[in-house]
Amino acid sequence: MKRQVIILFGPPGAGKGTQAGLISDKLSLYHFETSKILEEKFSSSDSERYIEVAGQKYDVLNEKQIWLDGKLCSPPFVAHLVKEKIKRLYDNGQDIVFSGSPRTVFEAEELLPLIEELFGKENISVFYIKISAEQTIYRNSHRRICELMRHSVLFGKETEGLTLCPFDGSKLVKRGLDTPDTIKVRIKEFQERTLPVLSVLEKRGLSIKEIDGERTISEVFKDIFSKING
Ligand SMILES: [Zn+2]
Repeated sequence: MKRQVIILFGPPGAGKGTQAGLISDKLSLYHFETSKILEEKFSSSDSERYIEVAGQKYDVLNEKQIWLDGKLCSPPFVAHLVKEKIKRLYDNGQDIVFSGSPRTVFEAEELLPLIEELFGKENISVFYIKISAEQTIYRNSHRRICELMRHSVLFGKETEGLTLCPFDGSKLVKRGLDTPDTIKVRIKEFQERTLPVLSVLEKRGLSIKEIDGERTISEVFKDIFSKING
């Protein structure tokens, strides 16, 4: 049975989560969201205060504060949580679509060898969903999530009139995390720390397919879908 991994890359607001959700439905892939894995970790009360990675201790509460400030958590801490989850998914026979992972060069260098080893390099597709800087700011300051499942609703013509989650009917609210200052920090973090991930992927011989993200959700989806195995 051929395995499959799709990696969606792009600035905050590019629609990675929305597209990954659609791909996940269409191809029965597990929608891997690092932010959800972090949220789960930070909200679970029985979780241990410290996590040890390669001889170094990481304070979960400290990582939570970094995350609340809109910054990227310590890469070894994130890579550790992510790798554990990838292994579990692989063992369960689940193929994966990633949105927003890897987020740093460190994470990419930790995760890619594992993903290649488990799933096979030839089965990895990488897409870079591009939008302009203005769109990034605009979409992030208008982004909403649903109360029940935290589905992220990308801001656009198709969604601006929605008041309820299209998936479960719960109320759409602004995320407490999306203040103008946090958004600015997040964009700067993307440019300085996430964008260099592309060259790591290229060095590993993975081809990156660029997608124009400033179209409707369905147009972007069709474009990605037609290029998945091409
Ligand atoms: Zn929802």
